[in-house]
Amino acid sequence: MVFLAGSRALTGILKCWRRALAPTGGRTLSTRCRYCGAEAVVRVPYAKLNLCAEHFGKFVVDRVKEAFRRYGMAGPGAKILLALSGGKDSSSLAYIMREISSSMGFKLAALHIDLGIGEFSKRSREAVENVCRKLGIQLVLIDLKRDLGFDLIDLIRRLRSKRVCSLCGVVKRYVMNAVAIELNADAVATAHHADDVLTYIFKNFVIQDYNYMRKLLPVNMGIPNTVATRIKPLYEIYERDLVLYAKHLNIDFVDMDCPFAKEEGMETVIRKFVEDLEARAPGTKISILRKFVKAHLGVQKDVEGYGRCSSCGLVSLRDRCSFCKLTEKCFGKPLGPAVREIIRQRFGDGVWA
Ligand code: AMP
Ligand code: ZN
Ligand code: ZN
Repeated sequence: MVFLAGSRALTGILKCWRRALAPTGGRTLSTRCRYCGAEAVVRVPYAKLNLCAEHFGKFVVDRVKEAFRRYGMAGPGAKILLALSGGKDSSSLAYIMREISSSMGFKLAALHIDLGIGEFSKRSREAVENVCRKLGIQLVLIDLKRDLGFDLIDLIRRLRSKRVCSLCGVVKRYVMNAVAIELNADAVATAHHADDVLTYIFKNFVIQDYNYMRKLLPVNMGIPNTVATRIKPLYEIYERDLVLYAKHLNIDFVDMDCPFAKEEGMETVIRKFVEDLEARAPGTKISILRKFVKAHLGVQKDVEGYGRCSSCGLVSLRDRCSFCKLTEKCFGKPLGPAVREIIRQRFGDGVWA
């Protein structure tokens, strides 16, 4: 495991970890695993289970399988592209998906985008490379500087912009979609977990952004050749459980925050509020998510109405997509077509395993 001392994420994860491992308030669990009778190392309050490390791993994996069925995320034969950042969530996602791929009949490949953000990107990329090597998953690596001639830092400098996260979002979303389309993926899986989704649900309720809400569903259907279907296999997995899962499997991940990331005050308040609700009634998080899905499925906006970018041909609300517009503004020509060409040339349909 790769740890960088002093990071905000590390402190958070360690706190989470200690709480989960010592659910009795600092004393170790005296109870036995529900399934095998070995000493329990984890208490899962919402399932009323004490589990050994092995059965805890199985519990998490089974919950992801169940989420695939519940939400109809993908069926046998599906080619799923895993979007891996190198953090604990996406590294755990890779392990879980590898574990379930044969019984569910999935074929996998992974995508990592090296954004060129100094040490953070270097370590993230190494972690993804290690995970993919260990799991035998083919990695599609898009290195912005090497492949397109610019990285995120160049982009920020050219635009003299402070909106780093939204620029980064434009680039990541575009590359994810383009890679998935070129490789004929049936879905792109991101590593958003229950706590991420709940935070965004409440945040968007507070700011009354209902358009964004549909992106928080477990499945967002795409359109062939234009926009890839997006799925969130960890939809019902709590962050705490992912931390424990990564620890028990000794998974490689980077515990370092992006130097540009800053959690907004509102998000911190919401996370605490959601934790308090869960502490009062274990299972509340899952119950809110399921009600959210039920309430929003019927109002899911149809992406059929979206047009195509006149430069690159991928999905766009306007004449040209944000990525083509952005790159033309900075570098004199829209780079969407170049991204598609690179993927076509370098990676065939043979990446799936
Ligand atoms: P974020 O936008 O950083 O919250 O990330 C959302 C999801 O996008 C993560 O859960 C990952 O699945 C994926 N992701 C984030 N960064 C990258 C990256 N550099 N390369 C590939 N996928 C990524
Ligand atoms: Zn056990
Ligand atoms: Zn475009």
